[in-house]
Amino acid sequence: MKITEIQVKDYEKVVRCVDEASGLHALIAVHNTTLGPALGGMRMLPYATEEEALTDVLRLSRGMSYKSAVAETGLGGGKSVIIGDPNEIKSEALFLTMGRFVNHLHGKYITAEDMNITVPDLEIVRRETKYVTGLSRAAGGSGNPSPYTAHGCLVGIQASAEEAFGSADLTGKRVVLQGVGAVGGRLAILLKEQGAHVTICDINREKAERLAAEHGFDVVEDKDHLNVECDIYAPCARGAGINDKTLPMLKCKVIAGCANNVLEEERHGFELRDRGILYAPDYVINAGGIINVSVEFHPGGYDEVEAMRRINRIGESLRQVYAIAREGNIPTAEAADLLAERRLEAGRKSVS
Ligand code: NAD
Repeated sequence: MKITEIQVKDYEKVVRCVDEASGLHALIAVHNTTLGPALGGMRMLPYATEEEALTDVLRLSRGMSYKSAVAETGLGGGKSVIIGDPNEIKSEALFLTMGRFVNHLHGKYITAEDMNITVPDLEIVRRETKYVTGLSRAAGGSGNPSPYTAHGCLVGIQASAEEAFGSADLTGKRVVLQGVGAVGGRLAILLKEQGAHVTICDINREKAERLAAEHGFDVVEDKDHLNVECDIYAPCARGAGINDKTLPMLKCKVIAGCANNVLEEERHGFELRDRGILYAPDYVINAGGIINVSVEFHPGGYDEVEAMRRINRIGESLRQVYAIAREGNIPTAEAADLLAERRLEAGRKSVS
């Protein structure tokens, strides 16, 4: 196992591991540990080049610093990527080597599940390092994050309704939700419980129909969902859903859902502002999962009551983001980054 360092400006540590025996070629980026150890998922993708993998790990680890800073998890930002096709290279030897790679940073980086990495994969990694989170409750972890992400989204939608409509009450509000997967499906139920009128869509039409029959949602075809007039649009499927093509079609006053990277480009945030559509920045509203994981680091170990108390603070974070956006007349996504940078700066001052 050969570990080499890559110097990158504004990143605390970026390291590469190449191991011929197991076939591991991986990168770990520790963006910032001012507020705590750098937590971020491990993903595996068939990147065409190491440069492509490096761009991804740098972007994602920085994103984790910002997400954790705004969510006040007491953690910093990091990420790891394994280069390769998950259908071809996964093996016990590969994940054991990855475990040793994570461990050589002595807890500066803490890993978790991400794209193409499963809990069983992480259980192998865990045999070589204790710096692994998000394992099952039975294994002492905080378990599946999705219900916590869904709860955080509900709190965020209520705070967004308060900002846009003057009241957090969702009774009678019309919500269109795209993607009823692990998070979206749960969120749809929570919204309905709050009295909202919920319309759902999913590329898996059968799943949407089944949920609708059970819980009394309306269903539309995915391709038609933006034609439905609504108060709140909750993207819960994939990224880049707000783009040049979809922007003119929007018939909502608020965009607030769990999907990552909702805006295809930064400039789309300006367009939403100009159209008077309130956007709940993705990494602020979808932080419930990481807040839940962060509670694993509390002195007494994971505690669900404490996790829920902290997830409820997503509403307050969004109120702060909206206040910054209003004061500066800037897009809410930019306001979220400003809030993160302020928190990181305050952290730097308090340690110096
Ligand atoms: P999931 O895979 O369980 O669900 C996604 C759902 O969206 C599926 O039902 C799928 O059929 C549907 N879908 C995919 N593409 C679609 C499309 N083009 N149109 C309509 N439906 C489509 O995923 P999830 O865990 O619920 O996560 C959803 C989003 O939330 C992702 O963007 C994810 O990155 C983000 N997110 C999830 C968590 C979490 O805790 N799971 C945390 C933060 C962010």
